[in-house]
Amino acid sequence: MKLSIKVILEELFPKIVEIRRHIHQHPELAYEEVATASTISNALKDFGLDAATVSKTGVYAVLDSGKPGKTVALRAELDALPIQEETNLPYESKNTGKMHACGHDGHIATLIAVAGALTQCKDSFKGKIKFIFQPAEETGTGAIEIIKNGILEHPKVDAIFGCHSTHRYEALTLATKFGCLMAGHDTFTISIQGQSGYVSSSHLACDPIYIGSLIVQALQNIQSRATSPLEPTIIAITQFHSGNSYNFIPDEVLLNGSIRTILSTTQTQIKQQVTKIATEIATAFGAKAIVKFEHGIPPMLNSQEETELVIKTAQHILGKENVMSTMNTVMAPEGFSNYLEYIPGCFFFIGNGLEQGMLHKSNYKFNDEIISVTAEILSNVAVNYLNSH
Ligand SMILES: [Zn+2]
Ligand SMILES: [Zn+2]
Repeated sequence: MKLSIKVILEELFPKIVEIRRHIHQHPELAYEEVATASTISNALKDFGLDAATVSKTGVYAVLDSGKPGKTVALRAELDALPIQEETNLPYESKNTGKMHACGHDGHIATLIAVAGALTQCKDSFKGKIKFIFQPAEETGTGAIEIIKNGILEHPKVDAIFGCHSTHRYEALTLATKFGCLMAGHDTFTISIQGQSGYVSSSHLACDPIYIGSLIVQALQNIQSRATSPLEPTIIAITQFHSGNSYNFIPDEVLLNGSIRTILSTTQTQIKQQVTKIATEIATAFGAKAIVKFEHGIPPMLNSQEETELVIKTAQHILGKENVMSTMNTVMAPEGFSNYLEYIPGCFFFIGNGLEQGMLHKSNYKFNDEIISVTAEILSNVAVNYLNSH
């Protein structure tokens, strides 16, 4: 008798909720996810899968159907946030100042459920499925480390899928789109170095605060005049630090900011323009500007075939009315975009319910009722992908 993924997931549900709540009670920050990794490894081993460690605290496992075919990867994230939980749930975080406020505990439990279900249905697909439990999503560095450690190779991954719960939609609804689902992200620091001096002899100083204010204004010209009005772009200065006196002009200003883009070419162009504007304005007024960009994340580009597969599979499970296939691009980053630079795939959102609180807030509550359906979608996406290639 052929086992139904849905029936197996129903049977696994009590155990999966127990795992989810255990992880919720013991949240760990990026690259500290030791206990979380151990919980995952033990759960995978219980299903008969060999779990291996990657990127310090990451876990991965390969499920081989024993039949030749493609390899598909499914990803979940491990890390919690430095937030003090305020939900009053019976399984509230026991780690002071740390909380699973981004639903990663739920995503881990969902992927464990998928692994459990597909291990029992190995005869229903060909090829291999790689389960990737990635550390450090919140710091934006985990995905690139997984890639550097060769996890997209041996066996080579042909397509990757991932999902995130969201407060934006009703529970049991799915939203995604072909193309840019989430924005690329860069952060930068501009150090403007002038000449300090007393206000009484300000003509002898080179005022970095004045120059900094000119740079803040000029950077907005990139968005309003140097990028297409049809292509969303954000350039925001979020910090302006300088000085400690009423009557003394300081010698340095530090500006920090963030850039969001939906095309990699624009991402490169804007970074060059930020550097040019800051350095040339500073030079024009006799100061010096040093511009530094931190680790960036590319725009997340869902591929067409894989996005259509997710939409079709989800429509079958949730009903057409509960699948949004052309959602607006989210102007926030997600490290999953790093994988999509190398291989095709699709990232999608699952509604967590509007009443469960906002992601990254101390009262956010992951909704256990979305676990089985999300796992059913991911399982069927993997099976349908493998059986159609
Ligand atoms: Zn987050
Ligand atoms: Zn997240």
